[in-house]
Amino acid sequence: MASGTDTTTGKSSTVDDASSPSGVEAGADDELYLRLKTFEGQAAVTAGEGKDPVNEPMIRHWCEAMGDTSPAYQGPDAVAPPTMLQAWTMGGLSGHPGRSAAHEELFALLDEAGCTAVVATDCEQEYLRPLRPGDRITFDSVIESVSPRKTTKLGAGYFVTTRMDVRADGEPAGTHRFRILKYAPAARRDSRTQDGRPRPPGSGGRARSPHPRPVVNRDNAGFWDGVARHELLIQRCTDCATLRFPWLPGCNSCGGEGWDTVAATGSGTVFSYVVMHHPPFPAFDPPYAVGLIELAEGVRVVAGLVGMPPGKVRIGMPVRLEFRTVDEDLVLPVFSGGREAGTWPVGPGDELPPLTVPVTRTVIVSGAIASRDYQDVHHDTEAARDKGSPDIFMNILTTNGLVGRYITDFFGPGAVLREVAIRLGVPNYPGDEMELRGRVLARDGDTVDVRVVGTNRLGHHVTGTATVAVPASEAVPSASQEPHPEPTP
Ligand SMILES: [Zn+2]
Repeated sequence: MASGTDTTTGKSSTVDDASSPSGVEAGADDELYLRLKTFEGQAAVTAGEGKDPVNEPMIRHWCEAMGDTSPAYQGPDAVAPPTMLQAWTMGGLSGHPGRSAAHEELFALLDEAGCTAVVATDCEQEYLRPLRPGDRITFDSVIESVSPRKTTKLGAGYFVTTRMDVRADGEPAGTHRFRILKYAPAARRDSRTQDGRPRPPGSGGRARSPHPRPVVNRDNAGFWDGVARHELLIQRCTDCATLRFPWLPGCNSCGGEGWDTVAATGSGTVFSYVVMHHPPFPAFDPPYAVGLIELAEGVRVVAGLVGMPPGKVRIGMPVRLEFRTVDEDLVLPVFSGGREAGTWPVGPGDELPPLTVPVTRTVIVSGAIASRDYQDVHHDTEAARDKGSPDIFMNILTTNGLVGRYITDFFGPGAVLREVAIRLGVPNYPGDEMELRGRVLARDGDTVDVRVVGTNRLGHHVTGTATVAVPASEAVPSASQEPHPEPTP
């Protein structure tokens, strides 16, 4: 969960903005804050009990909502996805019976002060043992901290951090630190424009990427139209059938002016490449590799090389065409090293292939229900508007589940998530797409740390890290294996 887009100024904002040093902060003279602070260290839940034991139907609903098809979560030996940790502790539609008087009092004080709305902003989970059907869940939770009053685009309020210890059949199973913003909703957002048409999510609030734009003219417009449809079109002379690229008005071979197009199959090899270190451009994050790719059709294309550390690019390396959505107005063809999940040596700097998640109303609502989160802002558009959001938005448990799926999709069913720590930025609204990208930060034996960023049209929806243990015998070969031929100079 997160914040919204200011439809007046068109500026996109995040809860991060609020917690940054520039956020508006009340001083120690905030009487309410001084009262709230006395709750730090008090129990929020003591000896809470999960409403249901870990069970197959909830696991299946979760996996369906997250699109997670890992065999680890199916069949007689199934475990629960680790990112479900919090779901087993949720009160669901009928609420939490086990909350302490201190917790009730803290939230009542905030409600009385007008901070009636709530969004989650951070979630840090550590997984100590797998959860299996039949495990009975118990938990304790403590109010760890309350922030001074902060002003955010959603409204002014207080960040409350709780820490929970989760047990399965009495054994420690995981820990869960959770930060929410309890806030007084700013004025209701109307999601309609002045002419009465629905406002598409993010419209007016979208910061265009600083990425340079292609120069589109009469001679090459057809090429960029194709790219927008995720097709790389090669011109073909209708007189002599010679293929040509880049697009030109006439045939180099026979001078003929007639042409049609063929769509590239998408396979190619690196004919040559450069790795850019300098000069830096705002749109790019050096070092990065740009390749001259020889397509299977025989023509050559200059494009970015993605999905691998620049230092691993080699002449002759097979690559595969992908399309990268830079922002709403720009799609670019790029080429990635043709690695399959788990078949590359994994080390610092390696990039995971991106995962694009369509953010539909169905995904948002099914994720909320699979995680037993009945906060109205995740299913009721009117209620979301009353709380200062232009529409419903994805809950943090779904985002966490998607991050977990992204990691285990890549590392394979033998990999075990140890920790996932995420922070939410701009919300995931219906109609958007989120692209998850990951980069390996460190590897220590079989333990791999991955930085994960999920981006939508408004900016970063989620940033965080995941730690995953990969059995030595599985999935990730040793770093000495070289999957691609060395260059032959
Ligand atoms: Zn020709």
